[in-house]
Amino acid sequence: MTEPLLSVRDLKKHYPIRKGLFNRQVGAARAVDGISFDIEEGETLGLVGESGCGKSTAASSVIRLEEPTSGEVVFNGNGRGSASRNPDGTHPNDVTEFDDDELMQFRRGAQMIFQDPSSSFDPRMSVGSAVGELLKVHGMSDRHRRRAIVEDLLERVGLSASDFDRYPHEFSGGQKQRIALARALVLNPDLIIADEPVSALDVSIQAEILSLIDDLQEEFGLSLLFISHDMSVIRQICDRVAVMYLGEIVEIGPVEEIFTNPQHPYTEALLSSIPTPDPRASVGGIELKGTVPSPTNPPSGCRFHTRCHKVIQPDGVDIDQDDWRGLLNFREKVITGEIDIDQVRENVAAGGSDPTDSEVRAEIRREFDISETVGDPDLEETLSEAMNLLLDDNAEMAGEFLSDEITTPCAQTEPETTVHAADHESACLRHEGRAAAEPNPADD
Ligand code: SF4
Repeated sequence: MTEPLLSVRDLKKHYPIRKGLFNRQVGAARAVDGISFDIEEGETLGLVGESGCGKSTAASSVIRLEEPTSGEVVFNGNGRGSASRNPDGTHPNDVTEFDDDELMQFRRGAQMIFQDPSSSFDPRMSVGSAVGELLKVHGMSDRHRRRAIVEDLLERVGLSASDFDRYPHEFSGGQKQRIALARALVLNPDLIIADEPVSALDVSIQAEILSLIDDLQEEFGLSLLFISHDMSVIRQICDRVAVMYLGEIVEIGPVEEIFTNPQHPYTEALLSSIPTPDPRASVGGIELKGTVPSPTNPPSGCRFHTRCHKVIQPDGVDIDQDDWRGLLNFREKVITGEIDIDQVRENVAAGGSDPTDSEVRAEIRREFDISETVGDPDLEETLSEAMNLLLDDNAEMAGEFLSDEITTPCAQTEPETTVHAADHESACLRHEGRAAAEPNPADD
């Protein structure tokens, strides 16, 4: 069996948080928190998620622009071939262990392109010199040979050989991204890591650059790690996709499988946000309320539980799912002290005279999309009691009360990975046990 070109295992990148006179470490921002994936030769793997989910940090940790905190990144490209492990269990091709010389060799085989091509060029350096610089760094002293290689590459990325002597400011954003591609290709790499390469470009130019990347991938036999927040871009260019949320991969699989049969609620929500050309077409939009929580203090259990539309109800509870989500959102805001009852009163009063308590209660229900009554007498009583405490200016006690009375299994248990089909996995408590009940076709 051939080894993947790139194999990432349990990769972590934590940033220490320091405080006080002695700069003591008091915590860590877990930007990337144990991700694993493979990229085969000639394959494009997409890494998708909202801004702040850790995908760019993952990319720069893979290529060691940032030092990973732990984990393994095995790169079998660049003529290294496959190799067995050392007696101590480490891998001789583990990028995280490379010394400076090995790292330089590795970077011949793995290149990165970035979102903003403008900032990655020295304005005083001609385009030809910028693209050819790496050839010089890697020992090609023959100026004429360098020029011939660069001119050829400029033509292959859709520019002209005569652009060699021009300067970056003479090119548009799309053209600069073409130059960035030429520069990434100049050492004939096996892998390109592209971090949001089209998101700063106009939609019409995006399509051109994506099509160019596709063509170049075929022509040069490249593998790609393609990072994007945009599911429609991922669908155009990727073979497989890994969905990232708050430092973790929550679902990974072939791109068509993920688009037609998403398993993780977060993937469903990302897919439902893709705009359709027909404004009348319903895509069943799932609104993800709130921002991605901080990686400094990720939620317990499943990290998505604070926003998940399918968050699980406890045993014995069976209410409308929107009410359940609303109740949990209300609970969270009360616990964090974010409900200012005087402000709610003022908002209601803006419509006329002083509001009654029942008007304030109704306003809170409206704010959190909770029905007039939730279909469970015990929960209804809990909600009512919490609102009483808020109305009595006892927000702290209301938080403690709700924290004791309302909870979800998703906040208590970290989901394990479930295999759905060949190469398709996700991590959600709703799926656990399903794999055993539904045989994996890959085992046939
Ligand atoms: S474990 Fe719970 S919160 Fe997490 S994705 Fe599944 S249903 Fe949603």
